Amino acid sequence: MKIYNTLSKQKEEFVPLVPGKVSMYVCGPTVYNFIHIGNARPMIVFDTVRRYMEHKGYDVNFVSNFTDVDDKIIKKALEEGVTADEISQRYIAECKKDMEGMNVKPATTHPLATQEIDGMIEMISTLIEKGYAYAAADGTVYFRTRKFKEYGKLSHKNLDDLHGGNRSLLVSGEEQKEDPLDFVLWKPKKEGEPYWESPWCQGRPGWHIECSVMSRKYLGEEIDIHAGGEDLIFPHHENEIAQSECCNGKTFARYWMHNGFLNIDNRKMSKSLGNFFTVREISEKYDLQVLRFFMLSAHYRSPLNFSAELMEASKNGLDRIVNAVDNLKFLAGNASQETLTDAEAEMVKTLAEYEKKFDEAMDDDFNTADAVSAIFELVKFANTSVTADSSKAFAEAVKAKIVELSDILGLLVEKKEEMLDAEIEALIEERQAARKAKNFARADEIRDTLLGRGIILKDTREGVKWERA
Ligand code: AMP
Ligand code: ZN
Repeated sequence: MKIYNTLSKQKEEFVPLVPGKVSMYVCGPTVYNFIHIGNARPMIVFDTVRRYMEHKGYDVNFVSNFTDVDDKIIKKALEEGVTADEISQRYIAECKKDMEGMNVKPATTHPLATQEIDGMIEMISTLIEKGYAYAAADGTVYFRTRKFKEYGKLSHKNLDDLHGGNRSLLVSGEEQKEDPLDFVLWKPKKEGEPYWESPWCQGRPGWHIECSVMSRKYLGEEIDIHAGGEDLIFPHHENEIAQSECCNGKTFARYWMHNGFLNIDNRKMSKSLGNFFTVREISEKYDLQVLRFFMLSAHYRSPLNFSAELMEASKNGLDRIVNAVDNLKFLAGNASQETLTDAEAEMVKTLAEYEKKFDEAMDDDFNTADAVSAIFELVKFANTSVTADSSKAFAEAVKAKIVELSDILGLLVEKKEEMLDAEIEALIEERQAARKAKNFARADEIRDTLLGRGIILKDTREGVKWERA
């Protein structure tokens, strides 16, 4: 399996640190609003990487943080007159709903920055002890960038070019820095902001330090893969490397993976430009499986332009697979012959060729576009080779292969069976009992499960009523 490593700018054979295991960290979103479909791209892409590795038999420890303390969260909290915590909790819950809709698996661990402050203070203290960081008079702690000789190795930037580019920082109130390149590890609180005690001042961490600390805590000092969108290469990931490698004296991550931008009218989709669609908005028009299919139709490193036409094309593409599976199910259910004929037994052997094509595409730096093509070829085979005269076993074997390969990409292509009235009512009863026992988490979980299956609950005076969406 080959992975393009931003560090070497080359595709490299993937060799994990520990045979059979993969440690992977993906920088997660800052939670101050619904996520937009640009943020969804790394979620879908790296979830697919994880699924493929699991398919290959690796045990993947997948960590992805939520940045739950940040200027934008604090600003939103002030605007709404609520705490920053309320804002971040709300949007973490919403993000998790979107992830479920896109069939993005929950991470092994989803750490929160606000829960890891002690670890950050410890790492900053070590960096100061080792001479890689210093506290200024107002309690701000800076990283001494020039002291890390390998700074720039990920973004392939030259320190002196950066120096020129960053001169403006000198006039933005940061004259207390020893060097314009130095970046913040800890900063003093401002009036009305959340803060934590520290040896330097009451304040809060800089953004970069959180990932260094969480990656080490949950995955170890040296990990296999660190990933995120390409906008994170500089300065975020460059700074993470500097902090971690100076603190731990070890390589931070061996493979660096970055997804290309999701653009709209050839400009990066972003909150600040205002040119975005939230995942929630898209879900009003499409099943989020269509969004996932759209993302996987391009190579993850290529830019991808969002358009209504491409979404329609994705819907049609996904429908082709879903309809083929549906048809195979029908043929299997109505077949007059149970077992494979000799001719079918030969044809079943060819299924391995489609899988081989699929695997070759994915082994080549996760070329999902070609992997999807392999599934389409299989669908074409199904549509031409499985007929009303085929055996049940043959229709089922072809269907199983399409479902298996789609599933590796996280695409759900089997139509969900409708939930039976009795199943729904049993869950509603369980929910009532959970509420009575004040187990609101379980009650909410049941409501969400039902919602996911298209069942809407309504609390009325006569009790709980339900309807199919
Ligand atoms: P943020 O909340 O801005 O830190 O972003 C969370 C993740 O989404 C990061 O990995 C970003 O690189 C990624 N991201 C943000 N905007 C886009 C975009 N338009 N295309 C692809 N990835 C993006
Ligand atoms: Zn990060």
